[in-house]
Amino acid sequence: MSRVFLVGAGCGADAIGARGLSLLRRCDCVIYDDLLDESLLGECPPDCEKIFAGKRSGAHSAEQAEINRILVSCAKRHRLVVRLKGGDPYVFGRGGEEALALREAGIPFAVVSASTSAIAAPAAAGIPVTHRGISRSFHVYTGHTRDGEMPDYALIARTEGTHVFLMARSRCGEICRGLIEGGMSEDMPCALVSEAGMPGARAVRGTLHTLPDLIADLPAPAVLVVGKTAGMDVRSDLPLAGVTVAVAGTGEYVGKVCALLREEGALARPLGVAEVRALAFDSFFERMMQFSVLAFTSSNGVRVFFARAKEKRIDHRAFARFRFAVVGNGTAETLAEYGFYADIVPRVHTAAGLAERLRGTQNVAVLRAEGGNPVLGEIGEEFLLYRLYYDDEKLRRCVYEAERADILAFSSAQTVRGLLPLLSMDRRPPIVCIGEETAKAVRAFGYTPAVAKDASAESLVKEIVSCRD
Ligand code: SAH
Repeated sequence: MSRVFLVGAGCGADAIGARGLSLLRRCDCVIYDDLLDESLLGECPPDCEKIFAGKRSGAHSAEQAEINRILVSCAKRHRLVVRLKGGDPYVFGRGGEEALALREAGIPFAVVSASTSAIAAPAAAGIPVTHRGISRSFHVYTGHTRDGEMPDYALIARTEGTHVFLMARSRCGEICRGLIEGGMSEDMPCALVSEAGMPGARAVRGTLHTLPDLIADLPAPAVLVVGKTAGMDVRSDLPLAGVTVAVAGTGEYVGKVCALLREEGALARPLGVAEVRALAFDSFFERMMQFSVLAFTSSNGVRVFFARAKEKRIDHRAFARFRFAVVGNGTAETLAEYGFYADIVPRVHTAAGLAERLRGTQNVAVLRAEGGNPVLGEIGEEFLLYRLYYDDEKLRRCVYEAERADILAFSSAQTVRGLLPLLSMDRRPPIVCIGEETAKAVRAFGYTPAVAKDASAESLVKEIVSCRD
């Protein structure tokens, strides 16, 4: 039996809930809007059908009937359909109409609530929508209706509490004036919060009288908050609060860096610039008895290697005869996950450092990525385990994110070469690198990067934090 979930993506990046994410990771089809964190689409299974139904497609609200039809027809073709909407599906998202259309068509559905911009955007700017002794209620309005009908300003002006206007960017001046004319004090604090929880997030504060003149360059989407709590400022004071850091690279390393960045308060954006695609290296397994040292140059390589060994049902006891060499601690840790502890780790954690350390060693198999440092070819026989593959759509999204970030972090020279030449940056954000090899690649494009003390995720994050000091 097919089913449809109306899933809220929450406000800004990283705001989807656990239930929504779990459904997204298993769905057969996703129908998504604009104004949500597009990198979420990367969470869908690879063969998931993705349908864009946002405003950019020309599907204006008048064409809601068309979206309802798409929903019903997808439900007939697929088992699990996710209708992914920005913020909460039932807050000015027309989710209720979609639910009714599904019910009418006899299709089972459920709604998965999430944080709404009405609460989360003010919060991101340090404004609580309620606060003991200051505001005992909050009210949410649309600043934009199809028939142009405006809210009853006199009624709002008489109502205590915090007033939040969505879809308010283009009507901000009009709303502020309306409230003053409706009897609200022109000194009432208010704020416009733009792109909350996303790269480029900004907020401007003022009063009903001053705000309209202060916001010329703030883009939509934005919420307008009016009320005494808009005069509060309880923003985070963590070192990277309000800072967007884009981290380019592959694999878990980027995930770990992002997790640590979040602990420092940053908006962390993993940029999966390239995908790891295994190559054919079965000849290694056929001839592996000829070797005595296996040299790995990356965590990705270790994973691809053991995944292939598993497919070939190779018993791990066959590896007992080898000594293992790795380029650095990250690779050593990944190797340890498979129950092998590295015998050889060079002092300098680079391909050149590893080559130096292994020079003169007999029967070395170098297990590495295509396009790496050729110096390793001199110390043993090379087997190419994987290739980094650049998908145009993913790359486009990475460029978009990277160009908006306050700080860029790179965890490999290859991702630098894949991404950096595509960026057109008028601002030149600080760039932080995992190590000297990566820094060299960055310098080749005319930037002056900061370099982490060592290749660990902790060290990279420390360097990023010190960029802000
Ligand atoms: N269902 C959504 C609202 C959809 S209406 C929710 O619950 O948040 C779209 C409006 O939401 C925008 O015009 C803007 O007012 C607000 N909005 C959405 N995302 C936002 C963001 N990241 N920052 C500020 N406002 C946002």
